[in-house]
Amino acid sequence: MTNAERIFQELDMSPQSDNIYIQTMSEILLAADRVKVPRRLQLILAQPKKEVMVHFPVQMEDGRYELFKGYRVQHNNVVGPYKGGIRYHSEVSLDHIKALAALMTMKCALVRLPFGGAKGGVKITPRKHTRTELMRVTRRFTSELRANIGPDYDIPAPDVGTDAQTMAWMADTYINLKEPAFRLGGSVVTGKPLAFGGSHGRGKATGQGLVFVVAELLPEMGYRLSESSFSLVGYGNVGSWTGRLLAERGATMRAVLDHTGAIGNPEGIDPVALAMHVEETGGVAGFAGTSALSPDEFYQTEVDLFIPAALEQMIDARVARLLKCKVLIEAANAPVTPAADRHLTEQGVEVLPAILCNSGGVTVSYFEWKQNRQAETWELEVVDHQLQKLMVETARRVKQMAEELGCDMRTAAYCSALEYIGSVYSLRGIFP
Ligand code: GLU
Repeated sequence: MTNAERIFQELDMSPQSDNIYIQTMSEILLAADRVKVPRRLQLILAQPKKEVMVHFPVQMEDGRYELFKGYRVQHNNVVGPYKGGIRYHSEVSLDHIKALAALMTMKCALVRLPFGGAKGGVKITPRKHTRTELMRVTRRFTSELRANIGPDYDIPAPDVGTDAQTMAWMADTYINLKEPAFRLGGSVVTGKPLAFGGSHGRGKATGQGLVFVVAELLPEMGYRLSESSFSLVGYGNVGSWTGRLLAERGATMRAVLDHTGAIGNPEGIDPVALAMHVEETGGVAGFAGTSALSPDEFYQTEVDLFIPAALEQMIDARVARLLKCKVLIEAANAPVTPAADRHLTEQGVEVLPAILCNSGGVTVSYFEWKQNRQAETWELEVVDHQLQKLMVETARRVKQMAEELGCDMRTAAYCSALEYIGSVYSLRGIFP
């Protein structure tokens, strides 16, 4: 029996190996054992501290009432307030949100941000609803969560299917539900619009952080960013900013896949023009100057960097066998299944893990929260400079841990985060 299996048994959890929470937690517990996190702490980390599930009705514009299911999972707050995004997607489920919440704990600890980890979501298909309906869903969901979120307690942010507008509605609802004297303003959520307490650079933050990490690590792997080619899965916020910022550094975008299809051009695809096409048409399919690819042709496109920037677990063992890349950069959270990960490692593909590569988003969220609380607005240059500093430090920390332990970058990232969480627990002790 593995260490993780023993912990799951003690907690009465039934471990199904294809369950995303069990998979994610097994990897975390493997790393915890490696850096000798005491067993009593492993038991605490193996389960979220709180799982909130709500059902709420909302009236649609045609007069019908629809019932929605929403979640907020608070995984751990030993380092600081819970922090993490809110997702609107048809496939949102408790196990997915639990896994993503645990990854937020790891991500914030890895960057040494003063935050713990949480995640939330509503099971909804946003594009099937009007703006008014989405606003009503957001306001009602925020009202259901109001006792569980707060600027010093749990701070939501955007994720898949939500954006700055969603955060503005959340903040406004939260503020209106408080007594005037307790209206601590918008710092209850991050990723807000610039005009309402947002930060410069938050929109591009995840892509920007990824580019800083890649620029730091790639030369040591023997590649030049300016001469690299790459392909992307997903062209939403993270994918499109990653494409744009990598191209600005001279890299060539060869192929992109999203829910509308796949496109390719060996000579390169213009990322800015593609972003405009996606804005107008809703997806990458049919973009001028590219040819349509089947999903398998897309995965088989020869590139230096393969970047999944969509949903979790998209790269399974079958897809991993098709890939012809040198480095896989996780822009999405948990995009690679454990079986695919093993295959890639055997093939000599270096995998740069999500908690390192996509931590730029929550890092600029931290800057936003800090600006709100100090009633300040930082210039974009200041945000970019601070982000680069933290991303480079974090990349170095992971690299050093990988060298010390002789392990892959994912294990090293978890080990570094867990060592830090373990040290905070030993300073604080366990109440009472
Ligand atoms: N949803 C983003 C993530 O997964 C950002 C979270 C945040 O800013 O709190 O990292």
